[in-house]
Amino acid sequence: MRQCLTHPGGGYYTRQTTSGQDQFGTKGDFVTSPEISQIFGELVGIWIYAEWLAQGRKDRVQIIEVGPGRGTLMDDVLRTISGLGDFVKRIEKIYLIEASPYLQKQQATLLSGTKDLQKSHIGLTAPCKYIPDCKIHWCEDIRLVPKGTLAGTRVLRKYADMEIEETLIPFILAHEFFDALPIHVFQNIAQSSVPASTTIVTPTGPIKPKYSITTPKNTWHELVVSPTSPSSHNTGLKDENNPEFELTVSKTPTPHSMYLPKMSKRYKDLEQIADAIIEISPESLSYINDFAERIGGSNPSPSPRKNVEEPSATGSKISTSSKQSRPFTKPCPSGAALILDYGPLDTIPANTLRGIRAHRPTSPFQSPGLVDISADVDFLALAESALRASPGVEVHGPVEQSFFLSTMGIKERAEQLLKGAKNEETRSRLETGWKRLVDLGPNGMGKTYKAMAIVPYNDKGPLRRPVGFGGHIVD
Ligand code: SAH
Repeated sequence: MRQCLTHPGGGYYTRQTTSGQDQFGTKGDFVTSPEISQIFGELVGIWIYAEWLAQGRKDRVQIIEVGPGRGTLMDDVLRTISGLGDFVKRIEKIYLIEASPYLQKQQATLLSGTKDLQKSHIGLTAPCKYIPDCKIHWCEDIRLVPKGTLAGTRVLRKYADMEIEETLIPFILAHEFFDALPIHVFQNIAQSSVPASTTIVTPTGPIKPKYSITTPKNTWHELVVSPTSPSSHNTGLKDENNPEFELTVSKTPTPHSMYLPKMSKRYKDLEQIADAIIEISPESLSYINDFAERIGGSNPSPSPRKNVEEPSATGSKISTSSKQSRPFTKPCPSGAALILDYGPLDTIPANTLRGIRAHRPTSPFQSPGLVDISADVDFLALAESALRASPGVEVHGPVEQSFFLSTMGIKERAEQLLKGAKNEETRSRLETGWKRLVDLGPNGMGKTYKAMAIVPYNDKGPLRRPVGFGGHIVD
């Protein structure tokens, strides 16, 4: 999934595209909410502003978006907040995390009015067209975005009689990002039907562990991608109905099957159900942990790590030095993350890997690099992981997109825009657009899509729900 989507030589997102001919919109493969209506991004901008007010109008804000696509959401967010003078002057930097160099250029054209990006220490940079003296930075992994103070600016301030280093306040957006991160699929197989094996299959070949593995009665077996076996073909042709690859049950444990399904009680509870299927996205968990740590600080029980190199989305290496993996303390948690995507409210996704091409569902196992591949987001797994990663955060939601947008005022904003609509075409586009975003029917996006928020843990008073999640504006 990772290679098909972000391989530098022809991944679905990383292959060469030109504006208007990319993956998005009517000419592309799929349409996303920010592309359907400007109101979506406007309300997300207001959400960030409302959180900033509720957290006491703190200084030194970073705005971060992961997987910005064409940049439409960020464009509407920045256009909206650029009119909020007290807030906009607190924004220090904007970071866009994007694996595709072609989409980075497209985002720059929209947000900076230039394709001429300058090299920076983490990737590329250009000025923001909406906010004077504010730069946008592009990089391909969130770990490159500075946490804590901005390089070279150590600011100390008093907090509860302690002198602490002032931290940056990150507002993080992820719209239809997590569904693009790779999943591992496991099936619960009764031991009787599969011969027991002590061999572990690894990417570099089978290995026999020194000590024997004891397997319980039911075991999670990974479903691995393999070339379609001749016996699965009806016609011998490799087309949509007879894709080049298929999923097969690994007969032996894999490195992932040995630890991922043991990570949560939710998976354990399914061990009694024969043939149950679960999907787990470890990369999503590592992203959400990063969000949680930026907002609330990391868990104060660090596991010491040596200097290691980890592969990034596009295959290049990111060095994670032991210095960076020291716990990141944040005595005064701040910022927020807003995750908008599709997936179930509380169940574990199963059989949700899907392909889409030219607005039609297709097999994810054919035409690698030309088909968009995605899977449902396991919101509860993200929430669990965020809470484990940082003692300084709380999670709200997931709530249905319809609830989030309605309580943020989508109808009221649509009515305001409709009053100013210049012609019938604009009026009808506005009308169908906003309704589709909140429509609870099978063709609408109001029920399938969900919103979830990570905000600082509040132990100083009654629970404060963020706006869009049942709360009110607090200032
Ligand atoms: N948020 C946009 C685009 C969603 S598509 C919208 O809703 O319209 C997913 C986006 O994430 C694309 O921009 C894609 O290039 C980017 N992406 C996918 N996998 C990534 C990864 N591993 N690292 C960084 N960006 C990634």
